[in-house]
Amino acid sequence: MIVTIAADAPAATGTAIFAAAAAAGIGARGTADGRGGTLVGLDAPLPPDALMLPGVDAVHREHKPYMLASREHRGPSVVRVGDVAIGGPRPVLMAGPCVVEGKEELLAAAEAVRAAGADMLRGGAYKPRTSPYAFQGLGEEGLRHLAAARAATGLPVVTEVLEPDQVELVAEYADMLQIGSRNMANFPLLRRVGRSGRPVLLKRGFSATVEEWLMSAEYILASGNPDVVLCERGLRGFDPLVRFNLDLNAVPLAKELSHLPVVVDPSHGTGKRTLVGRMALAGLAAGADGLIIEVHPTPETARCDASQTISPAELASIRRRGLALHAALTEESDDVVLTGTGAGELARSA
Ligand code: PEP
Ligand code: MN
Repeated sequence: MIVTIAADAPAATGTAIFAAAAAAGIGARGTADGRGGTLVGLDAPLPPDALMLPGVDAVHREHKPYMLASREHRGPSVVRVGDVAIGGPRPVLMAGPCVVEGKEELLAAAEAVRAAGADMLRGGAYKPRTSPYAFQGLGEEGLRHLAAARAATGLPVVTEVLEPDQVELVAEYADMLQIGSRNMANFPLLRRVGRSGRPVLLKRGFSATVEEWLMSAEYILASGNPDVVLCERGLRGFDPLVRFNLDLNAVPLAKELSHLPVVVDPSHGTGKRTLVGRMALAGLAAGADGLIIEVHPTPETARCDASQTISPAELASIRRRGLALHAALTEESDDVVLTGTGAGELARSA
């Protein structure tokens, strides 16, 4: 059950609902509704008289299983990472190497992506590698390099956390925690980042449905963390010419179903440097709130994922074209009104 509480409701209303839920042994958690009010998600229904309170706007018995992630009863979210707003009017660009290779290497990459217009720095200190013999990342030393790169450039840092017991350590250094595709359904890890106090970038599992992805987001939200950004990074397909298939259907679909911002990763989503630029632009055209892209000053020499890594100059070009595309599409959607019930009928307003 979802209860919506108005922005101007007395504080006693929320307190009474939580108390009634606790007395009945029903789990309850609140989250902002994006309009100044609060949504309370209850694991089981409360009797109607427990909800006859001032400021209770509505009680929804029917709702999606991902009740906190759902867009049914609230407006879109904006997730802030430092000064960067994800889900705001301008798409956000996160960029950097696949893996932190060393201090000087990372500083050079961070300066280069900042000069190319990136808003955030990415880079893995802990890497989920298919082979146990492949380079697994520098660990805490890599986290220290990320913090140094943030200090040098001012760019907030997003980096992956692999295990529940690593969350506190990674959260000390990083501005945003990344949950990788292979860990999307690692529920203990999701609960732990839900208690970390840091915004989370939740990558979609490469064989996960959109609903499974939203249920994973729900784990984080239900653990008390409202700051979740979804990341589409490609699905496993059958064609060996590409590493993964970037599922751009999932972008407008996730935004239709959920209030959470969505970003696109065209690097892992293609596995191929020559496809990254076009698919990055396609991601923005699909409505993404941002991009996360693997960039290295000398892409061919990148220690991890070189084949999909682009140069800072290519990143600058994606940014320039992406902002122009975004501006053109936003202008268009402002003066086009959709009418009918999905029949595709377009009507120009006035
Ligand atoms: C990454 O971003 O470096 C990464 C390993 O991505 P994914 O989890 O999407 O494979
Ligand atoms: Mn990578």
